[in-house]
Amino acid sequence: MNRDQALALDAADPLAPLRAHFHLPEGLIYLDGNSLGVMPKHAPARVARAVEQEWGEGLIRSWNDAGWIDQPRRLGDRIAPWIGARPGEVLVADSTSVNLYKVLHAAMQLQQGQRLRIVSERSNFPTDNYVAQSVARAHGGELVLVDAPEEIPALLDERCAVLMLTHVNYRSGRMHDMPLLTRWAQQAGCLAVWDLAHSAGAVPVDLLGSAADFAVGCGYKYLNGGPGAPAFVWVHPRHHGQAFQPLSGWLGHAKPFAFTPDYQPAAGIQQYQCGTPPILGLAALDAALDVFDAATKLGGMAAVRAKSVQLCEAFIETVLQRVPEAAIESPRVAAQRGSQVSLSLPEGIDAYAVMQALIHRGVIGDFRDGTPPLLRFGFTPLYTRFAEVVDAVEHLRAVLNTGQWREPPFAARGAVT
Ligand SMILES: *Cc1c(COP(=O)(O)O)cnc(C)c1O
Repeated sequence: MNRDQALALDAADPLAPLRAHFHLPEGLIYLDGNSLGVMPKHAPARVARAVEQEWGEGLIRSWNDAGWIDQPRRLGDRIAPWIGARPGEVLVADSTSVNLYKVLHAAMQLQQGQRLRIVSERSNFPTDNYVAQSVARAHGGELVLVDAPEEIPALLDERCAVLMLTHVNYRSGRMHDMPLLTRWAQQAGCLAVWDLAHSAGAVPVDLLGSAADFAVGCGYKYLNGGPGAPAFVWVHPRHHGQAFQPLSGWLGHAKPFAFTPDYQPAAGIQQYQCGTPPILGLAALDAALDVFDAATKLGGMAAVRAKSVQLCEAFIETVLQRVPEAAIESPRVAAQRGSQVSLSLPEGIDAYAVMQALIHRGVIGDFRDGTPPLLRFGFTPLYTRFAEVVDAVEHLRAVLNTGQWREPPFAARGAVT
């Protein structure tokens, strides 16, 4: 794709007005919204209001007067339509890792010790597998990992308690068929737990339509809730009052302000709250969700997904034309791909240094070590332009042509890669 074709797509883009809601640093092409979403322009004012008025002036009264106490549910309601859930079913709380711990325990407990295995993929995001290993062991079971999705069906047997999958893989961007895998799991008596970290706000998800059992997801990736934004958790209503999460804190109690000595779980998703919600983090996420309201008016998820597919395809097409030595490590079929594309480079070219050189030139993607090491590019339909996609590939061409990546500073690794 050439730049004129990209500009024509930008001119015809129904979501183009959404870009104005974001603060995009001058001269930067940001293709890392799958790791940390861009800041909505009005987030600082919304956080400042929470700090200066709600906290500064309202103080403890703000739990009621500013609705602080309802924020985890209210924000959950705002996320619900983007993941195929209904209002009242989603809670914003804690981190993805912690929420995974809660739902995996709840799922294992539903299986009543009859089944002791959690099945997942070796390529899953490490925290998911670390948490699953700990939960499986706590129940006297084990985590069993497959190397390829084709191996999953054979493991869905009477030993499998839970199939835990991340809907869109963080390295390859490969997207699972959620309804199908959920059905296979449940036909074998297993429960299906889905991690939507790389899905929420970027690809269509239908939790209820898939009849999934549990789901968790991230607030700071495609939802743009800010660094360390609180995460979300969803539990199918059929498990409410049946499955119980183990972090039995006071705000998951049926009557937190009765201060009774015994724990009594709250009804519904409220039981999945543990302690006091992080109000300042919730304020930033709340601001970010305003942009999703605007997106709803411009076509909602159908428009978001259509643009996401177009962006990924524009990138792949341009890479194939301009950087033929790169290998596309993400599925080529859009239906099997999330909103990112990963590339690998021929042996002898340090992909880490290439990404550092790209960042130096103002193109931010990221690098994920492994076999092969990957250059990862995330495409956020809410603010990414087609012209940026084409320009990013031209920068990659230049980094490789000039050998700029060989400059010593680009080989030095920071604490976060
Ligand atoms: C980003 C991501 C996480 C992040 O977990 P935190 O608890 O927020 O650190 C977890 N799982 C997956 C699959 C992710 O992509």
